[in-house]
Amino acid sequence: METPLLEQAYNPESFRKLGHQLIDLLADRLGSLKAGEGDVLHFRLPEAERAFWQQYLLDQEAPPLAQTVLEHTTQVHHPRYMGHQVAPPLPLASLAALLGASLNNGMAVYEMGMAPSAMERLVTDWLCRRAGYGSQARGFLTSGGTLANLTGLLAARRARGNSDIWNEGYSGKEAILVSEAAHYCVDRAARIMGMGQAGVLKVPVDSDFRMDTAQLGPIYDRALAEGLEPLAVVGSAPCTATGSYDPLDRLADFCEAKNLWLHVDGAHGGAAFLSQKYGSLVRGIERADSVVIDGHKMLGMPVLSTALLFRNGADSYTTFSQEAEYLLTETEEEDWYNLAKRTFECTKLTSSLTWFAVLKGYGEAIFTEYIDRQYDQGRQLAELIRQRPGWELACEPQSNILCFRLHPKGIDPASCNRLNRRIRQQLLEEGKFYIVQTKLNGTVYLRTSLMSPFTTRRHLVELLDAVEAMA
Ligand SMILES: *Cc1c(COP(=O)(O)O)cnc(C)c1O
Repeated sequence: METPLLEQAYNPESFRKLGHQLIDLLADRLGSLKAGEGDVLHFRLPEAERAFWQQYLLDQEAPPLAQTVLEHTTQVHHPRYMGHQVAPPLPLASLAALLGASLNNGMAVYEMGMAPSAMERLVTDWLCRRAGYGSQARGFLTSGGTLANLTGLLAARRARGNSDIWNEGYSGKEAILVSEAAHYCVDRAARIMGMGQAGVLKVPVDSDFRMDTAQLGPIYDRALAEGLEPLAVVGSAPCTATGSYDPLDRLADFCEAKNLWLHVDGAHGGAAFLSQKYGSLVRGIERADSVVIDGHKMLGMPVLSTALLFRNGADSYTTFSQEAEYLLTETEEEDWYNLAKRTFECTKLTSSLTWFAVLKGYGEAIFTEYIDRQYDQGRQLAELIRQRPGWELACEPQSNILCFRLHPKGIDPASCNRLNRRIRQQLLEEGKFYIVQTKLNGTVYLRTSLMSPFTTRRHLVELLDAVEAMA
């Protein structure tokens, strides 16, 4: 059988040529983004975008694909990109991801990804060590904070639950305690696990949007009185909306006293322990039973790569196993290299390559430098806002996430919400800046995540000027 298309598709010389063109395009783009040229995005409504690409498919003389995509997407490296918490990937990490995407090692069993499996062990061992864990700790990489939170809570159930739900099914009344400001995926994970709305005990936050730990005891006691079985406390490090860190050491005290599992959702900023300056934000993280850290948020990785770390590595082996015990002994060989035993996924991304390449290329100092710079910048923006009349911060920044709003004197709450909502919409449509919005206790705030290493003080001032001009 003739296979002309397959011949063409796997032609090494066409691959080389296209590959060189693509890298040239991306390198030029990086240069212009670094210089702050162009807009962050050219916003189009979904239907217009769909029509464009439908037409593109049919167009015999369509312009080159990569170039066209760049014109139709959001530039996360742009200095005026200040929206969602997605990393502007380190170029070296993007190249490592290309390597991984070309090899397509499946990772489910060791020999289907020998190098990336070994790297995954080394990368997660490094994270465990830096989190302050001992030699019993183990981790793995999985696809996103959402899945990692679910997996961590499933491990918690296996380790601390009263009944063997994995084998016998759910009939119980398990519950978790989590701050009302936590990411919605924690609530979703508990519901997937069968706990329902009643099983998610929301702990109120203080004025800085940190879990009010004085409420833990009363909520816990009430849950017991109602016949619920609290399993775990989930701490946010930090929570998504305002970037506020729950006091992990106090959560750990509580969990130790009540024999509860402490799970830390550090998807955004769990890796603050890499920073001298900001490490104290996660004081107590070494006492957590499990910790989630997204590589694709504060660690410069391409989507999607999340580390899930366990203080007691044995807990990670029983999550999806019929056996409720796993012994990490020296005599029995621990098969850390068969990753699918511990991960939700079977086939999974070889994302350890990206972490490993970056650690090899720059050492962990690259992460420290980035975290310090971006968190410093959060404080800088707060300072600029405080200097201007008619502005208001939702709370003091604890990370590179900041919520604030324009609040002209004498304006009523509904008009003020409308004003800020319209400002954000107009910013989106203009495309010069990209920021998002959030609602806190009924009040609309503008929200920035300062993710680009190219954002400077000047860009922050320009943002505030632009908002004032619109208002
Ligand atoms: C982003 C985020 C998540 C979700 O992680 P994904 O990688 O997007 O699935 C969970 N929790 C917190 C605190 C986050 O910031």
